[in-house]
Order: sequence, then structure tokens, then C-alpha cells
Amino acid sequence: MSEIILEENEYMGDDGLLHCAVCGEAKEQLLDPKFHHLLGRDRHYRHCKCERDAAEAEAAEREARRHRAEVDRLRSVCFTDKSMWEWTFENDNGKNPKMELAREYVERWEDRYRKNQGLLLWGGVGTGKSFFAGCIANGLIEKEIPVRMTNFAEILNDLMGSYEGRNEYVRHLTNNYSLLIIDDLGMERNTEFALEQVYNVIDSRWRAKKPLIVTTNLSIEQIQNAQDMPHGRIYDRLGEMCVPIRIHGKSMRAEKAKQNMESFRQLV
Ligand SMILES: [Zn+2]
Repeated sequence: MSEIILEENEYMGDDGLLHCAVCGEAKEQLLDPKFHHLLGRDRHYRHCKCERDAAEAEAAEREARRHRAEVDRLRSVCFTDKSMWEWTFENDNGKNPKMELAREYVERWEDRYRKNQGLLLWGGVGTGKSFFAGCIANGLIEKEIPVRMTNFAEILNDLMGSYEGRNEYVRHLTNNYSLLIIDDLGMERNTEFALEQVYNVIDSRWRAKKPLIVTTNLSIEQIQNAQDMPHGRIYDRLGEMCVPIRIHGKSMRAEKAKQNMESFRQLV
């Protein structure tokens, strides 16, 4: 047998096999004697624990990098405004007890998705409905689930742009996102065209049996007692798809204004 040159951190064991000095495992394995002649050697290389651990750590790091890149990609598709990337459970101020329901929605996503269970988040201006929905979006994106958060003003703007692309656009909103979040229902233009398109988008999700989350400043009474047919059929669909949750957390905008006022008082 030729002379073996030992690397640093290697030693020849009593078993005649090369060993790793760090973990003590053999770095060689003897082959079945009947293959020695055929292969021209009696042993083959094997990875010691250190090498296996290093390979595993490298694979984990590669996977973590892939995951971060995918999460960033999904976020840039989901949100139009990058500040919404920060609407996460970690950044919640803990003042809205209903936030537990948002966490629960993310945790039980598979079940919610299967049952096509969405949410209707209603309540006054500045109570944190959009933040609530944004936390769900970011929570699901962290699980690499495609979400789109938009509003009807934006959807209508896109739809006005192209007549031919309308069906395609609505199909895209329906098929490409496991969850669609529509922020601020009721703030869009109240025209026949607008209401028709709002209905189309909602109805298309309903027919595809895919969940929808809607936030609105409208009260549940306004939703249950629609003023006319076009509104009525929109709200009826929402009633079939979405569990209403009243959000009346402390207004985050008011809170912010109060803080600003206090720091101002300290100044003067
Ligand atoms: Zn080792």
C-alpha cells in the first residue's frame, strides 16, 4: 500500500482507517474483499460528522436564502406600498385584542382555505383594520402563500385602462392568489360600472371557492340593509364568504397623534 499522507486533523486509527481528529469518526470504510481487485482498492472515503454537519449547515443556509428571496418576491407582488411589509405581528402594539383572530387565521390557514372562509373586518376609521389584514398577508407570505392586498379604487383604475383585458385581469386576481384582500370597500366610486366590477371580482372569488378578506368603514347594519340591488348583491356574496369581525381597537392614528402631542408638550 502506498504511503498515506495525513492531513491536519487526521490520524490513523488502530483499525487501520483514517480518522478525523475533531469528531473521532472514521473517514474511510473498508470495501467488501471481493471488490478489492475489481476496484483496485480496499476502502472508500466516507464523510465524518464534521463534514456531514458542515454540508447540512450549508444546505440550511441555502434554503434560508431561497426562502427570504421568495418572501420578498411575494411581498412585492402583494403590496403596492413597501411600508406594508412592516405590518407584521412582531410590529403589533398589542392594543387590539382582536389581533388574536388574525394570528389564528394564519395558523389555521389550510382549514380556512379549504372551507373558503374569509373575513369581513368592519369598524371605524383608523381602528387598525388594514393593519390587521396586512398582518395576515405577511403571516401567510412567510409560509410562501401567494396573497394580494389591494383596494377597489386600484382595481377600478386598472380595469378602466383596458376593456379587452378585463376578464383576464379578474381571472388573474382570482386564480393567482390563494388569498385576496380588498381594503376599504365602500370607498370606491359609486357608479354602476364600479359596482358591477366590484361584484365581478367578489363573485369570481366566490365561484372559484377561494377566500377573500375585506375591510370596510361601513357598519354591519349598513351591510345587512343594503340601500339598493347593486349593493345588495355585493353584500350578499360577502355574507356567504366572510365571517364579520368588528375591529374597534384604539385608533392607531389617534394614538400616534397623542404621542406627537405629548412629545410636543415636553418640548415647550
Ligand atoms: Zn470530523
